[in-house]
Amino acid sequence: MILPGETIGILGGGQLGRYAAVSARMAGYRVCVWDPDPESPAAMIADAHLREDFLSSLARDRFVDQVSAATLEFENIPPELMDRLSGSIRLSPGPLSVLTCQDRILEKSFLRKQGIPTVPYIVLETEDDVSAFVRSVLEGDQTAGSLFPAILKRSRWGYDGKGQISLTDVDGLMEEYRTLGSVPCLLEKRISLYKEISLILCGGKTAKPVVYPLIENVHVNGILHTSVAPARVDPELCTRAIEIGQSVMEALSHEGVLTVEFFIDQSGALLVNEMAPRPHNSGHLSLDSCGVSQFSQQIRILTGAPPIPPDLRGAAAMVNLLGDLWGKGEPDWSLVLSNTNARLHLYGKKESRPGRKMGHITLIAPSPDLALSEALALYQGIAGVNVTPPSEAPLPHV
Ligand code: ADP
Ligand code: MG
Repeated sequence: MILPGETIGILGGGQLGRYAAVSARMAGYRVCVWDPDPESPAAMIADAHLREDFLSSLARDRFVDQVSAATLEFENIPPELMDRLSGSIRLSPGPLSVLTCQDRILEKSFLRKQGIPTVPYIVLETEDDVSAFVRSVLEGDQTAGSLFPAILKRSRWGYDGKGQISLTDVDGLMEEYRTLGSVPCLLEKRISLYKEISLILCGGKTAKPVVYPLIENVHVNGILHTSVAPARVDPELCTRAIEIGQSVMEALSHEGVLTVEFFIDQSGALLVNEMAPRPHNSGHLSLDSCGVSQFSQQIRILTGAPPIPPDLRGAAAMVNLLGDLWGKGEPDWSLVLSNTNARLHLYGKKESRPGRKMGHITLIAPSPDLALSEALALYQGIAGVNVTPPSEAPLPHV
C-alpha cells in the first residue's frame, strides 16, 4: 500500500487533476502535478509542479524520482510515456485502458470485439479510404449511404466535441477530412438521441467494482451542460448498462475509475458512445451528493485501498459554468451562495474563453426532477438567459 506522506503523481493539471490533488492531500499524501501549463488549476494546490512537456525524458526521470505512484486526469498521455511509467512506478489505470480509450478506432473495435453495441461507423484512415467510401456512396451502396447524417471524428486528441465535423451527406467529406488534417478518423452515423447517460465504475485489484448510480447527461454543442443522478431511466436499462460497464472493466483489467458514456436511441436501444479511463465531468456531482467522491475513489485505488460503495444521498443535478458566462466580467455569485441546497465550484482559471470549463454548480434535492429544475433556474439567474430544461420525451414503445 502507498501510505500517507508519500507522493502521488498526477498526469495533467486541469480541474479533474485539481480534485484528485485535493483528495490526495486530504488523505495526507504529497502531490506532484505534471502539466506544461504554468497556470494549471491542479498545480496551484499541489506540493510540486513539473512544468514540462510530456515527451521530455528528463521530465519523466524527475517525475519517477519523486512519486511513489501516479494517476491521470486525461487519457491523451503519449503511449511511450505510459509504457515507461508503468515499468517504473505504480500506475493506475494501466496502459491497456489508456491506449484503448485515447484512440476512437481502437476503442470502437474493442467494443465490437466484446459484442457491445455502438452507433454504426466506418474507419477512414487515409485519403484513399475516403475516396473509396465516397465512390461507394455515389454508386448507390446502401450501407455506406445509410451512415448519413454523420459525424466525422478524429480518432485521437478529441474532447468536448473538438475534432468533430457534422455532415448531412457525402458531399464535402474529403474537404472536411482534410480540414481535420487527413489523420485517421471515424465516420459515425448521427443518431437521434432519446437520452445520454454515463456510468462511473471504480475497481481495484480484487472484488467486483463499485458503481455510482447512473447519471443522465445533456450536451450542448458537444460540451456537457447538465448532469442529473439518479438517471430517470428504466431499471432494466440500468442493469444492462452496469453489466456492460463491468464487462469493459474486466476486459481491460481496469484498475481505477472508469466512465462509460452511453447513448439511448429513439427505439430505447442502449449503445456505448465512448469511455474515459478516469473520473468524469458528469461525476462532479459525487463531490456534494455522495459519501465518497469519484476522486477519493481514484486516490484510494491508486494507493491500494479498496473502493467504497458511493452512498448517494438523495438526488443531485450539476450545471457546467463555461467561460461564455464571463462575457461581462465575473458573474454575480450571490444567488447561488445564498441557496443552501446549492454548491458553487470554481476551478481557479484566470482566463475565461467561450466553451472553457470554469466551474460548475451542484443542486441537491429530494428528486432528480426537482434537482434539475432548481439547478437550471439557478443557472438561468447566473447566466441571465433563458435556458429551457431538456424535453421529457417519453421513451417510445419498443
Ligand atoms: P467527446 O470526446 O468530445 O466527448 P463524443 O463522441 O462523446 O466526443 O461527442 C460529444 C457529444 O456529441 C456526445 O455526448 C453527443 O451529445 C454528441 N454526439 C457524438 N456522437 C454522436 C452520434 N453519433 N450521434 C448523435 N450525437 C452524437
Ligand atoms: Mg464524450
